[in-house]
Amino acid sequence: MRSKVPTAARRRPAAGLLKVRPLPGETTLSFIERLASTVQLTARELLRLLPVDGPKPLFQQFQADGEAFLDAETRALLAAFCAAPEEHLRRALPAWKRLPPGEAAAGGHVGVRFRGASLIADTCTACRMCTAQRTGQAILARLYRPSHARICARHQTWLIGPHPTHHDGDHDAQTSLRKAPEVAAAQRRHLWLVRRRPHMAEAFAFAHAVVTQWWAQQWEQDGTWQRRFEFLASGSRLPEDPWQQRVLTRDAVIYPEAVDVAMLSIPSNRGVLAKRPGPPDEPRLVPC
Ligand SMILES: [Zn+2]
Repeated sequence: MRSKVPTAARRRPAAGLLKVRPLPGETTLSFIERLASTVQLTARELLRLLPVDGPKPLFQQFQADGEAFLDAETRALLAAFCAAPEEHLRRALPAWKRLPPGEAAAGGHVGVRFRGASLIADTCTACRMCTAQRTGQAILARLYRPSHARICARHQTWLIGPHPTHHDGDHDAQTSLRKAPEVAAAQRRHLWLVRRRPHMAEAFAFAHAVVTQWWAQQWEQDGTWQRRFEFLASGSRLPEDPWQQRVLTRDAVIYPEAVDVAMLSIPSNRGVLAKRPGPPDEPRLVPC
């Protein structure tokens, strides 16, 4: 007699085969990469091998620092692999049940789709030391993080954002801030403003684009940026190529100036910024 059990369900692996838990705010692709690494596979290899009835993943838009969007069948299989209730995965992984940006809901099997880092919300690498402590894995993880949360306060490191040149697990994806405390101070100013100014996110995106242009034109002449770059690069395990080092550290190098420009681009902040005793580096706004 012919079985009525769906093919994929018959082939489903024993629950709990892979003991991996998601990090809060992790990208789905990062979680799959960590899952795959426990059986010496990559995320691409694991997704290719999944016994799904629906379409196989198409990897044209795959980027290691991007995101994977899964159909229901694939989600169920991965949840079974790691014996995690899907609800737990949904809570930890922001894109777990989401559709790719720009796609309307579709019925039936749609397979696994990918989007590059520029098409998803802001991400950065997770702190390698924190990841190792939480997961026991010496592997690069990626988290959704806004621009004012790119620093691991515990380890005083800047977490590098997505970049096509940096998918190499042999190098750190973070730079030490111990010799550049002004970067951490800028994050405290940034956070202070995010809590008080509703348009700070847009202001910072604009300011970052402007200062990035300045950096592209002036990084060789600017003594402050040169000195900061040397401090950041000297305490970090970055690729040997000097240009790659420049590009990977750029966001940290220009961050204090980007925060200052963002502050000035919000109308209610225009004025003279002065320091006052009290919380470190919290600015006092003095009207013009
Ligand atoms: Zn850390």
